Amino acid sequence: MLSFIKKIFKKDGSPNSEPPIILASEHTISRSLISRNCLGVLDTLANAGFEVYLVGGSVRDLLLGREPKDFDVATNAKPEEIYRLFRNCRLIGKRFRLAHVYFRHEIIEVATFRKQGKKDHHHPAKEHNGLLKRDNVYGTLKDDVWRRDFTLNALYYDAKNNTILDHTNGLLDLEQGIIRIIGNAETRYREDPVRILRAIRFSAKLGMSLEENTAKAIAKTHMLLAAIAPARLLDETHKLFNSGNAVNTFAALRHHDVLQHLYPLTEEALCHPTLHITADRFILRALQNTDARVAQDKPLNPAFLVSIFLWYPLQIALEQEHNNKTGTANHNAFTQLEHAAGKILRQAKQHLAFTQVITQTVIDIWLLQFQLIGRRQQQIYHLSQQSRFRAAYDFLCLRAEGEDALKPIAAWWTEWQEVDDAAREQLINALPKPKSTRNKKRRYPAKKPATKE
Ligand code: ATP
Ligand code: MG
Repeated sequence: MLSFIKKIFKKDGSPNSEPPIILASEHTISRSLISRNCLGVLDTLANAGFEVYLVGGSVRDLLLGREPKDFDVATNAKPEEIYRLFRNCRLIGKRFRLAHVYFRHEIIEVATFRKQGKKDHHHPAKEHNGLLKRDNVYGTLKDDVWRRDFTLNALYYDAKNNTILDHTNGLLDLEQGIIRIIGNAETRYREDPVRILRAIRFSAKLGMSLEENTAKAIAKTHMLLAAIAPARLLDETHKLFNSGNAVNTFAALRHHDVLQHLYPLTEEALCHPTLHITADRFILRALQNTDARVAQDKPLNPAFLVSIFLWYPLQIALEQEHNNKTGTANHNAFTQLEHAAGKILRQAKQHLAFTQVITQTVIDIWLLQFQLIGRRQQQIYHLSQQSRFRAAYDFLCLRAEGEDALKPIAAWWTEWQEVDDAAREQLINALPKPKSTRNKKRRYPAKKPATKE
């Protein structure tokens, strides 16, 4: 099949005028692999006389033998026409209207074919460096192909004939494991720098390599990620680290110098003269852990990795406060930690729009470190009932893997969770008694011990 495809396609990823049709016998998708709801949507639109295809990640994933996250549909029907065909349909989006067809456990997104967005003549001041501001012009199927990001994401499955339309040589790239941007790489990244993050995400997730130009243009354009809204960056960052390939993704982000646009403080910590090795190992352990959890289908707390990424920046901020003596001398370590945590999160939020729930969880995980290590006898039960206890304990275990002094403490908490009430009491009683606080309440500093002249 490869030789057949090679003869027909151009090499630069630009769309062919006549789309080669991949016949049912030449690909592995069949109707039985598509959700019943999605087939219903495809068939209803086709029977009403519209052109309609399954598109994007679902076609890509089905061809790779993976389970698609969701099914996206593209059609020449206009949103109002789609709306009229389905009772369970809602139109969404201001910038570009999309139809969502609702089922009990599934939403099928149906998008009308559209053109590559035109430059925004109404708001020329808002546009710079070729960044696209508008993306709302309907088009033909060929236009729709041209606006997509990578060739392997531009395959159109026709469920009626069981054929695939492949304008951009996507099937060959998919079979050869190549992520190739459609059109000129630099131009396409300038239009939408988030494509850089998507290129990195797909290459890590699918274990594929970036085609030469697709990779090279990242160096010239990644600075434009600074102009992307923190809410969109957060969304992409979430996908980057939750797809089960966080370790590879992180390596690729650093390799392409892109981490600085998501977590600049982390990038700084990873270049810190004394902390870089420990910080790097700590993050790596956490990412390995995250990937293992995804592989086991365990839930992920979105704040956990944030607390990991920002932990060493927090240490650097605490050290700086200590050196500059900006922290008030009277403040105890807990208050200083709280103060530095607030500062770090405020800075981080300028790049990734963390919600209040996320920032509060991060702060709780950090502050609980202090208490989990302190293990005051009267606080043990109270601590273990905190909603963030489990996350803070996991965090402590990750720290302990790299800090010998923390190993017995993490082991103590592990044991405490595993044993019965009687054994818990024994564990608590065996903890060192808190030092008397009477001296600490003294209003005047203790006298220095007399020194011999
Ligand atoms: P997944 O859903 O598995 O993360 P996907 O490829 O389906 O991957 P979506 O974000 O669901 O990603 O997008 C669906 C399709 O829309 C893509 O396959 C691609 O064709 C197109 N697309 C999405 N984002 C962009 C973009 N920034 N630029 C160009 N095309 C895009
Ligand atoms: Mg998708």
